[in-house]
Amino acid sequence: MFERYERLAERALAGEAPSEQDALWVLGGDDVALLPLLHAAFAPREKHWGRAVQVHVLNNVQNGLCPEDCGYCSQSRDSSAAIRKYPMKSEDEILAEAEAAARAGASRYCMVMSGRGPTVATAHKLAGLVRTVKERHRIEVCLSVGLLEEEHARILAEAGLDRLNHNLNTSASHYGEICSTHDYDDRVATLRAAKKCGIEPCSGLIVGMGETAEDVVEVAFRLRELEVPSIPVNFLIPIGGNPVQSDGSLTPERCLRALALMRLVNPAAEVRIAGGREGHLRALGPLALYPANSLFVEGYLTTRGDDEAETYRMIRDAGFEVAGNPDWDGNVPGRGDFRLRGGEGEILKPDIRAEQRGPGATRAD
Ligand code: SF4
Repeated sequence: MFERYERLAERALAGEAPSEQDALWVLGGDDVALLPLLHAAFAPREKHWGRAVQVHVLNNVQNGLCPEDCGYCSQSRDSSAAIRKYPMKSEDEILAEAEAAARAGASRYCMVMSGRGPTVATAHKLAGLVRTVKERHRIEVCLSVGLLEEEHARILAEAGLDRLNHNLNTSASHYGEICSTHDYDDRVATLRAAKKCGIEPCSGLIVGMGETAEDVVEVAFRLRELEVPSIPVNFLIPIGGNPVQSDGSLTPERCLRALALMRLVNPAAEVRIAGGREGHLRALGPLALYPANSLFVEGYLTTRGDDEAETYRMIRDAGFEVAGNPDWDGNVPGRGDFRLRGGEGEILKPDIRAEQRGPGATRAD
C-alpha cells in the first residue's frame, strides 16, 4: 500500500528525482493519500534541514510604477488594484526595517523592488544597502529586483549579496499566458547571470494561474536542472484589478501536494511556503512544514500575512523550531497571544482573507 511513497522517499534521500510519471501522480493522482505523501516528502526535508524553519521578512522597497505586464502582479502596468505606489524608500527607512527584521529573529531580509530591472546606478545603490545591512546584522540579505545582466550581478556580488530571487513563475509553454513584456528565457538568463557572479539564485513559481499539472512538474524539474537552492512556492493571491485571477484549483490539499512535489524533485533545496500561505492553506498550514522548511512573516509585497507571534506559535505548536538569526534572543517583539486588528499601517494593504471572504468580512482572533 505504501510502497510508492517509500520509493519516492528513498529516491529523494538518495538525491534522485522521481520519474515524471510519479511527479505527475504526486500533483494530480486521484488515489494519492495526503499524509503518506507528506511523510515521504518529510524524509529529505528532515535529512537536509532537520525540524528547523527559516524565517524570511520581505521589504517592498519600491512599490508599483512597473512598466511590465505580469498578469498576477498588482504592481504591473495593467493592474488597477488599489495599492499604494511609491518610488524607492529612503536608505534610513530600509535600514530601520532591516533592524526590525533582525530583532524579530528573521534569518533573511529580502529587499524587493518593482520594475523591469535596475540601472547600473541603482545596482550600486542597492549594493551599498547590502553592505550596510551585512555590517550591522548577522542576517542573510536577498534582493528581488527584476531582470539583471552580468554587470549588475557583479556589482551586487562584490557587495556580498547572498541571494538573488527571480522566480520562473510558471513553465516556458505557459509563460506567454501571464506576461508579454519579457519572456521566460529573460528570467533564466537573470538566474544564470547571478550564478555566474557567485550569487545564490532563488527561484520558484506561482500555482493557481490556470497552469496544468505538466506545467508545474516542468518548473520543478527546470529548477532542479538550474540547481536552484531556494524555491519559493506561491499560491496565487486573487487581487481585484489584476488580469490573472484564481483558476479555482487551490485547495489546501493541492497546495500541500505542490510543496511535496518541489521537495521530492529538489530534495536538498530550501522550499519556502510563500505568498498565499495563510489564505489558501488555512487550518492545514502546519502540515506544509513537512515538505517545506521556510516561510515569510509579516506579509507579502502588497498583501498582509500572519505576524511573527502567530507564525512562530504555529511553527512551535507543529513541533518545529524557528531558525532565527544568530543575534536573535528568541523573543517575539510586542505581541501577546491575542491582538487587536486595525493597528497603524495595516489599512494600506488589502487583506487577502477579507477578499476571499468578501466585502465587510473581518478575521476573528
Ligand atoms: S512581477 Fe515584477 S516585473 Fe512583473 S509586473 Fe510585478 S513588479 Fe513588474
